[in-house]
Amino acid sequence: MTDPPRADLHAHTTASDGALGPEALVRLAASRGVAVLAVTDHDSVESVERAVAEGARSGVRVVPGVELSVRVPHGSMHLLGYFAQARPPALVERLEALRAGRLRRAERMVAALCDLGAPIDLDAVVARAAGAVGRPHLADELVAAGHVASRQEAFERYLGDGAAAWVPAEGLGPDEAVALVRAAGGAPALAHPASLRLDRAALAATVQRLAARGLAGIEVHRPEHLPERRDEYAALARRLRLVATGGSDFHDPRGPNAPGDTGRPPLPLDAIDRLMDAAGA
Ligand code: AMP
Ligand code: ZN
Ligand code: FE
Ligand code: FE
Repeated sequence: MTDPPRADLHAHTTASDGALGPEALVRLAASRGVAVLAVTDHDSVESVERAVAEGARSGVRVVPGVELSVRVPHGSMHLLGYFAQARPPALVERLEALRAGRLRRAERMVAALCDLGAPIDLDAVVARAAGAVGRPHLADELVAAGHVASRQEAFERYLGDGAAAWVPAEGLGPDEAVALVRAAGGAPALAHPASLRLDRAALAATVQRLAARGLAGIEVHRPEHLPERRDEYAALARRLRLVATGGSDFHDPRGPNAPGDTGRPPLPLDAIDRLMDAAGA
């Protein structure tokens, strides 16, 4: 018996904090039976064209995507956007400013680390990023400088949401981010709802507001979701008529999840089509 083809609507490359370039990501996904793969780098679409080209060679349908940082008062919020085009002009013209905001945030976190007795060099952090700079790049530099033993320790002690050197993300406001994806002709979906750190009622209220603004989907199928969470988000999706999306959030072959790992039950293969239809994208 051969395994059914898999879908994965959340994966990173070296254009942000992923370890693989676009060709290597798509080939790895193909080898794992992924038939539909969205490339969703943080605030960048730089890998999309090459991933689409590799998809044509490897037999993977590559969906152009992005993961936008959203400014929220606590926790963190990421908005996924999916597009028919590799470089939607209305989106591309905003991404450079968002990456500049990431650099400012990194600079502020480096300053905070210095005050905390864990100095690292901003240029060395930036050199680790081929594209959009992010906290994993700072974490790796903290390891290299000997301040922590692992990336995980770096997040626990310094960089995780609310930790000592954490600085909230800049970026668009929630409504603005949804509007940007829609204006660029795309379908917006809320990534990892748990990162908002809201209780059930507050999350539902927030997602309902975003749905009224044009949010089309919410991540339900993620490998780390326990059944209770998954069912909560699935029920919210049904109630608000959002498409249940999901993905592996793959970053690194050495990490816990591989492309195509979307938990159980896995992400349905046609989720992307239902999502694009729902958004009129
Ligand atoms: P940033 O976009 O700079 O806020 O960084 C977000 C990225 O950091 C996520 O995509 C994860 O790859 C990583 N990350 C966030 N929180 C943690 C954590 N607690 N432990 C390990 N990695 C994390
Ligand atoms: Zn990431
Ligand atoms: Fe994310
Ligand atoms: Fe991600």
